Amino acid sequence: MKRGHIPVRTCLVCMRKRPKEELARLGLDVESGRILEDSRGKMKGRGAYACRECLPGLRLDRRMQRAFRNRAREICVLEVPLLK
Ligand SMILES: [Zn+2]
Repeated sequence: MKRGHIPVRTCLVCMRKRPKEELARLGLDVESGRILEDSRGKMKGRGAYACRECLPGLRLDRRMQRAFRNRAREICVLEVPLLK
């Protein structure tokens, strides 16, 4: 791994920029339209990011729809335990 460059992403909820490592990655399950926490970064397609403390504030708003190309139907991240 290269050092020195820290990838930064913007939280979908509060719009703060933070190092990617500090954010939860969200992925879309295309078939069901569910937004899931993609903790391993394995889900295909576009991802979005949110602070862990912002996860309860996720909404199916325009910003979310833009991130997922209007395919988000349901947010299913809250039952995922917040593991550290
Ligand atoms: Zn946030």
